Amino acid sequence: MSEKHGTKIVLTASATEMSDFLNNPFIAFVGGFAKGPVPLWFLRRNLYPPVKRNPDGRAKYAPYGLRKVEALLLKNGFKESDVAVVHPQDLNSFVGPNTKAIGISSMDPTGMGYVSKTYSSIVGGGEPMNAIEFRQLVKNKSIRTYKPRVIVGGFGSWQLERKKVADSYGVDCVIMGEGEEVVANIFEKAVNGQEIPRVVRVQESCEEKEVPTIKHPAVHGCVEISRGCGRNCQFCTPTMQKKRDIPLERILEEVKTTVNEGSSRITLVTEDLFLYGAKDPRFIPDKKAVVKLVKSVANVPHVKAIQPSHTSLAPVVADPSMVKEIAEILIDYNWYYHGSKAIITSETGLETGSVRLMRKYMTGKMLPYKPEQWPEIVSQSFGIMNDCDWYPLATLIIGLPDELEEDVNATLELMDNLHDYSAFYVPLFFVPLENCILMDKKGTELDSLNKARWELFIRCWEYNVRIWRDTFLKHRIPNPLLFKFIKHVAIPYAGTAAGIFYRFKHGEQMQRAIWKMATA
Ligand code: SF4
Repeated sequence: MSEKHGTKIVLTASATEMSDFLNNPFIAFVGGFAKGPVPLWFLRRNLYPPVKRNPDGRAKYAPYGLRKVEALLLKNGFKESDVAVVHPQDLNSFVGPNTKAIGISSMDPTGMGYVSKTYSSIVGGGEPMNAIEFRQLVKNKSIRTYKPRVIVGGFGSWQLERKKVADSYGVDCVIMGEGEEVVANIFEKAVNGQEIPRVVRVQESCEEKEVPTIKHPAVHGCVEISRGCGRNCQFCTPTMQKKRDIPLERILEEVKTTVNEGSSRITLVTEDLFLYGAKDPRFIPDKKAVVKLVKSVANVPHVKAIQPSHTSLAPVVADPSMVKEIAEILIDYNWYYHGSKAIITSETGLETGSVRLMRKYMTGKMLPYKPEQWPEIVSQSFGIMNDCDWYPLATLIIGLPDELEEDVNATLELMDNLHDYSAFYVPLFFVPLENCILMDKKGTELDSLNKARWELFIRCWEYNVRIWRDTFLKHRIPNPLLFKFIKHVAIPYAGTAAGIFYRFKHGEQMQRAIWKMATA
């Protein structure tokens, strides 16, 4: 199964990141929820089961960032036999006296991400699953026994420094920022027993040509098509990276690697699919480049589903014909359904309906339009997307610094205008992420939720229940009688019990909201 005395370098991630969440990229966000009284073994089996293994025990799929590290190590002189990418459950088979370094990638190691902060405080039940699983990983017995150097990178690595837990977690080196130009050197030093830095902060964006393509598939068939954004939203970190489009031939090479190793589903990783190839400083999309990209990926033999990770709203209004044309392709490669209808989806930032806050923190978000036009852009783009069976997953931020009640009311008004559109809404507390312009500001806490903020939070989830409940239940409960029982009896009863519980936790309005959702 593995080298008898351990593989020289072992790459891994926590159990919530080494899973495809039963093939559902958007459900993966529940890793930020608290586990409550549910035992870990149950969650590992039923919510985030391990990725498949190859016959040699290595992981068949791994987070995209880990695959990039693997490719960088192979490019820099390490052999395939020197590097094993494994699920944490398999560490005992791969870590031994010969193991010199463990590389861990993490999105949310201590539960300080947007979803974790928001939902673990509202729903309650303790620490988020992401944080529990990361701790379990670094405390793994074979790591403790053989003491290889532990190197942590990834989007959430900053959390270890902010919480000052790196030492107690036995982490020797934390890499923050784009690590591509430093990572091979650090592993080389670790393998040779040389000193490695405790913290590495990479401020510059790496040169794309220096980054090798992945050699094995990523979870959800992730393939990066662009990096960075450039719209300068002040709460966001991708905007600090230089915007780069990955050349089409490199994208297709990674798509082929992915399908050749058994994944027929491709996730296009980007901050904005609609701006792939765009050169215009006012963020006018380049329709030809986007259509060519989507067509080319769809034409790779054996690709069966294509999921764009993120899109923004202004380009939809700027070029509705582009959206229509790519939707006509993507609908044949759909990953999701609404009822029995095939739909396309992607994550998008709605953020707020307040023109004042848009002007203050996000003046680039609606380019080529003006901040005053934002509410109209949101409504129009939702309409255009829905006409193409494209149902966005929209995130909203509650508690941006200096948010006033009138700002929240503006968002509530916008939500009223969106009532008849289909989307999934994810309201999130503001979190001052590392390396964003607002990083020194105070994050939103549960006790700062006034009546208007609660109202917005509840409105989003009322919409979600109304739009998605039947789809959610039908895909899990095929038996029509059982479906009726769950919908009309079990959910209202559970809603009543949950309402009473949350009334004591968060007040009467929460109880009313849960009751409304349960009986919608
Ligand atoms: S548009 Fe999205 S990715 Fe770009 S800066 Fe704003 S929040 Fe970040």
